[in-house]
Amino acid sequence: MNLQTTIAGPASVSGVGVHSGKPARLTIRPAGEGTGVVFVRADVADRDGDIPALATRVTTTELGTNMTNDAGVSVATVEHFLAACAGLGVDNVRAELDGPELPILDGSSKPFVALLERAGLKHQAKPRRVLRILKTVEIRQGVKFARLSPGEDFTMRIAIDFPTRAIGRQAISFTMLPGAFAREIAWARTFGFAHQAEQLYAMGKGLGASMDNTVVIENDAVINPGGLQAHDEFVRHKLLDVIGDLFLAGGPIEGLYEAEQPGHALNNQLLRAVFADTSSFAWT
Ligand SMILES: [Zn+2]
Repeated sequence: MNLQTTIAGPASVSGVGVHSGKPARLTIRPAGEGTGVVFVRADVADRDGDIPALATRVTTTELGTNMTNDAGVSVATVEHFLAACAGLGVDNVRAELDGPELPILDGSSKPFVALLERAGLKHQAKPRRVLRILKTVEIRQGVKFARLSPGEDFTMRIAIDFPTRAIGRQAISFTMLPGAFAREIAWARTFGFAHQAEQLYAMGKGLGASMDNTVVIENDAVINPGGLQAHDEFVRHKLLDVIGDLFLAGGPIEGLYEAEQPGHALNNQLLRAVFADTSSFAWT
């Protein structure tokens, strides 16, 4: 039986936000069945700080997935933490944050996987709710697309294409099976381009970015002293982002996800399109 899962006890991690540059401490705590993942801004008074991790709460998708509740309280860059929850099969957790943005840590989901493992996973009594895709839903934006169609398990096939020899065209196919996320995807770091840094700073973004948390590409080369962990670390990170973004469905998905050059905006539009057509899905 596929039971809902929470964590056994609290655990914390601290770091700076990649865009705000602001320090924040994330403390995860167990949550009851049916809670889902709920972000709590511990630095904001009362329960106005609660932000359920749902696609309908996503307000901006520029350079990250950011969410806001009815009281106007926001939390930024949620996707790497959510990917870790999805990858480890954690359904219910309170994620308390004392700042506006989740810490970027090493730019991957690996420290969040370690955080969840440190807290310990705990099965609950009720079965997990799964979003079964019943018919194909697709969002297109020029050559880019993202699509969900019916499938037996949760398989994702994506491709990216960047006009630099450091990346080029990369593709990956991945099925969410126990242990697979931590082994194949979690460690893939976020990446950015040196020539865009000035532009980001001017927008007040990327203030916490460094080669400690971002793979930096200058012209046709990766300039981090340690290089890459795998030649296709880029597409693996894009897939990590997809897994985090799709977890905002409110539960694991049973279906096939395919995309060309996916991004946070496309993923959010796709989930909203699925939920807008009640014949395209069923909760089972
Ligand atoms: Zn990312």
